[in-house]
Parts: sequence; structure tokens; C-alpha cells
Amino acid sequence: AKSTHGERFCFYEARMDEAARDRRAIAKDLWEAIKNDEFQIYYQIQKSVMTGETTGYEALLRWIHPTRGFVSPVDFIPVAEECGAILDIGEWVLRTACREAASWDNDAKIAVNLSPVQLGNVNLVQVVHEILIDTGLSPKRLELEITESTIIGDKTRALHILRQIKALGVTIAIDDFGTGYSSLDTLNSFPFDKIKIDRSFLMEAEQSPQSLAIIKAILALGKSLNVPVLAEGVETEAQLGLLRSEGCDEAQGYLLGRPAPMSSEEIRRAKSA
Ligand code: C2E
Ligand code: CA
Ligand code: CA
Ligand code: CA
Repeated sequence: AKSTHGERFCFYEARMDEAARDRRAIAKDLWEAIKNDEFQIYYQIQKSVMTGETTGYEALLRWIHPTRGFVSPVDFIPVAEECGAILDIGEWVLRTACREAASWDNDAKIAVNLSPVQLGNVNLVQVVHEILIDTGLSPKRLELEITESTIIGDKTRALHILRQIKALGVTIAIDDFGTGYSSLDTLNSFPFDKIKIDRSFLMEAEQSPQSLAIIKAILALGKSLNVPVLAEGVETEAQLGLLRSEGCDEAQGYLLGRPAPMSSEEIRRAKSA
């Protein structure tokens, strides 16, 4: 029994080792990725549930590694946050998305994900301000998406920074709502302009009365706080129908459009469709 235990332990350790090595390798390559032009931004459309009109696009980072190929942001964003590269990468995403959006001939919003590490950076407000000036993007077209876990740290500080960002005219969306550790108090004291319901709830809504109840509760919350609600991960017509009958404001998901690189030509076509 002792040796079995030992083997299992070694196996576990070896796997940990491998994972750690992998993270170190990814971290090393991340520092080079901007310079080597390995990042690209994909955009995913967001639409009004009632009118079908385009309301915005979420910027989603893509990394094409020279030997690994496509690396998912789910795998490299945490590494970038851990090693600090997320500050440069996040700034690159913000600048590139704002520059590209400024060249589109429509006034759709551009939603950019903000890492908790970026929110902890003392220069964040200055960086956002400079990027808006440099790219000429109207501040009201920029939306920053933050998750609930971003603000469980130093709330007073986070609140101060978010207020300064809002003073620039930029809006704030709370991402993956329902999955973090937030309390209703957080929602009450933070200046959110949009609530994004995490896609896990819609995924289960048709089978699980609990998930449906949570969606309804978030929609009611949005209504009473006068904050629009967007549902993520809409994959089927049935799900879209459900959102319509429940009075959800906006939707995003594969049914409406997969994340894709976007030329101004494509944006124009999407707009006139
Ligand atoms: P997120 O912010 O919740 O982004 C939504 C994710 O759901 C995206 O995955 C998107 O491709 C995916 N998605 C959209 N519609 C559907 C659908 O109908 N079904 C399913 N199954 N999935 C859908 P992606 O692009 O792999 O990004 C994963 C996460 O990585 C993002 O989750 C976000 O947390 C993070 N991320 C991506 N880009 C950035 C970035 O530029 N900065 C930061 N800090 N994080 C980013
Ligand atoms: Ca997001
Ligand atoms: Ca999300
Ligand atoms: Ca997510």
C-alpha cells in the first residue's frame, strides 16, 4: 500500500512540475508576444434583444504562438496576470481595440476586458485617458468589463478608480455576473452601467428551474436599479426567445455571431444587415 501511495504521489508531483514548467515557458513567451506581433483581437457582436440592432462588440484577445499555435486566453491570461505581463498586454488590447473601433464607420460600443491586475495599476486612469486622446475614440463608445472578483480586494480604492474612469465618459460593465463573490451591496455601491449574466445560467436555464430563477432575479435587479442586462452565451433560438419573453435588454453568443477578426468592411456589412 505504501508503494502505491508513493507512486501516486510522484505522478502527481510530476504533473505539477510539468504544469509549472509550462506556465514558466508561456510566461517567457508572453513577454515577446507583443513585439513579435502574435496577438490579434477578435470581436463578438452584442445585440438588442428586442430590435436586433447592434449595440456593441466585445474585444477578445487571441494569441497565435509560433510553435504552440492557438493558445486560449483562459490558459494565458492567468499566467500573464501572475507574471505581470498583463499590464503591457492589457494596454495593447485597449489601444488596438480603440484604434480599430475608431476607424469603423458606425458608433457601436467597444467592450474591453479589464484584468484585476490592471485595476490595481496606479496609472490605469492616465493610460485610458491617453489612449482615448491618441486614437480619437469617443469615450462614450468605450466600455470596460470587470468581473465581480476584481472588486473584492480594496473596495474603496477600486471605487475611486472606477469613478475616475467614469468621469472620462467611459462606461463600466460587470462581467460574469452571478459567479463571483459579490454581494448586492457591491452592486449598489459601484457605478455599473451594464450587468452581463454569466453564460452558465443560460446554458442550464431550460433544464434547471434554479438557473432560470437566477436569470429572472438578475433581470429584475437590473430593472429596479435601472441598469441594462446582457445575457452571454446565447447559442439557440429557444434561448433567445426566453430572453425576449423575460425582457432581457441585450444578448451575445454564437447564435448572433462568433468572435472574429474585423475589418471596417465587415463592420459595415454587419451594420447594414
Ligand atoms: P469572457 O470575458 O466571459 O468572454 C466571453 C467568452 O465566451 C469568450 O471566450 C467567448 O468566445 C465565449 N463565448 C461567446 N459566446 C459564446 C457562446 O455562445 N457559447 C460559448 N460556449 N462560448 C461563448 P474567450 O474568447 O475564449 O475568452 C475567455 C476569457 O478570457 C474571457 O471571458 C475573459 O475573461 C478572458 N479574456 C479574453 N480576452 C481578454 C483580454 O483582452 N483581457 C483580459 N483581461 N481577459 C480577456
Ligand atoms: Ca467579458
Ligand atoms: Ca463574461
Ligand atoms: Ca468568463
